[in-house]
Amino acid sequence: MSVYDNYETVIGLEVHVQLATKSKAFCGDDTTFGADPNTHISVVSLGHPGTLPKMNKKQVEFAVRLGLALGCKINPRNAFDRKNYFYADLPKGYQITQDKEPICIGGALKVKVGEEWKTIRLHHIHMEEDAGKSIHDIDPKHSLIDLNRAGVPLLEIVTEPDLRSPEEVDAFMSGMRQLVRYLEVSDGNMEEGSLRCDCNVSVRKKGDTQLNARCEVKNMNSMRFARQAIQFEQKRQIDIMEAGGSVQQNTLNFDPATGTTSPLRQKEDAHDYRYFPEPDLPPIVLTEAYIQEVKKQMPPLPNELFQQFTSEFQLSVYDTEILTEEKATALYFLDISKNTKHYKSVANLIINKIKPWCNDNKITISDFPIPTDSIPAFVELIESGKVSSSIAYQRLFPKLIEHPEKTPDALAEELNILQSADEDFLEKIVNEVLEKNPDKVAAYKKGKKNLMGFFMGQVMRSSQGKAEPKATTALLMKKLS
Ligand code: ADP
Ligand code: MG
Repeated sequence: MSVYDNYETVIGLEVHVQLATKSKAFCGDDTTFGADPNTHISVVSLGHPGTLPKMNKKQVEFAVRLGLALGCKINPRNAFDRKNYFYADLPKGYQITQDKEPICIGGALKVKVGEEWKTIRLHHIHMEEDAGKSIHDIDPKHSLIDLNRAGVPLLEIVTEPDLRSPEEVDAFMSGMRQLVRYLEVSDGNMEEGSLRCDCNVSVRKKGDTQLNARCEVKNMNSMRFARQAIQFEQKRQIDIMEAGGSVQQNTLNFDPATGTTSPLRQKEDAHDYRYFPEPDLPPIVLTEAYIQEVKKQMPPLPNELFQQFTSEFQLSVYDTEILTEEKATALYFLDISKNTKHYKSVANLIINKIKPWCNDNKITISDFPIPTDSIPAFVELIESGKVSSSIAYQRLFPKLIEHPEKTPDALAEELNILQSADEDFLEKIVNEVLEKNPDKVAAYKKGKKNLMGFFMGQVMRSSQGKAEPKATTALLMKKLS
């Protein structure tokens, strides 16, 4: 046991989600990612004197949607504040955010860490706007500023310090990404910065109940970097404590090149930002009727589907995780499940054939050519033993993609792949196989019973998959006894 095992890590996250609205939080500027620098910048984005912000209704709706999905209390009256600071990518000199009265309070996200479920409580969710982007690595002498992102709507989700390891952070961020995608409030794309987090990390002796001073690692936009940053902090902070020192609260930057953190600035006290109520935006008042309206449009949620798929459909955790990863796949499965009870067979088909086909052809499953109506008949052919599953996968499946308007039964007929248990048909093939392999027959009779697999394979091959397996086995047994 090393000294590191005597400590536990405490982590709280501040997650920023960039919302998938068409326009910015407080003006009509386009929010499309990847546009030429400084092309989506009206006078509001540029913070010209005399301009006024105007609330984007979608931002409010998305905040309520996410809040409801996470079981938050929706604050019926919430308000904006100004967070004042100077930075070149913040032309107004302040960020419009919610400090005292955020839109959502409390709530929790349940995440699966390995085999265990863990509840991570949320402190609150608030609405705010993004700043522009400073670029330091293009010009050797100057920093460049792209203000396209200035004013893009964000939600900030602040957790309680409930996380204990990089694995839990990973699970939380993946769960959050899955949820915002289900809710269609964000593309959840970490590489493009639509989902990023600040990691607050502290360590304490196992068994201690009070929290020690924490450090906040800013702006992690990759799970790998977040993991590395937390691991680095764990060791750094424990080393300080083991040497008899104490950790100073600090804001840190993570350097992916070295895998280390370094101080960005001393942590400002909240009052340094001189928060005060935003005078240009009235408080947001949400009626119960409005909240109910948003609730009505809620899609099924990933954790509910996980429950349903594992209990009602009796699917394995492994299958369920693949099927519920994306909403489109889960809905595709749900649609089919109304018309068949062969859930496992449908799951296999989606996981082994349909999803790979969609990936290869770069389409989403909602554009997959075979209509969900045809899938129950397809799996029924396999389950009833009319078509062997390998033949169904190899021959019927591609044919059905070519002719999605035809029924699986009609196509199986056309392809002449319906299995036969017809005695005469089977007898002819079985006799041929046995005649061709007298040595194997002799060996079988002497006790090499596992040669049955070989005979079956031969019969399947010469019948082109049409020999019905049960009847074939029975006939082979009879002939070889
Ligand atoms: P501030 O208002 O200064 O940003 P908060 O109390 O709001 O600080 O906490 C910000 C984040 O830091 C939250 O996610 C919270 O869970 C986390 N946090 C607070 N104290 C600790 C601690 N001692 N160790 C780890 N995380 C912490
Ligand atoms: Mg904070």
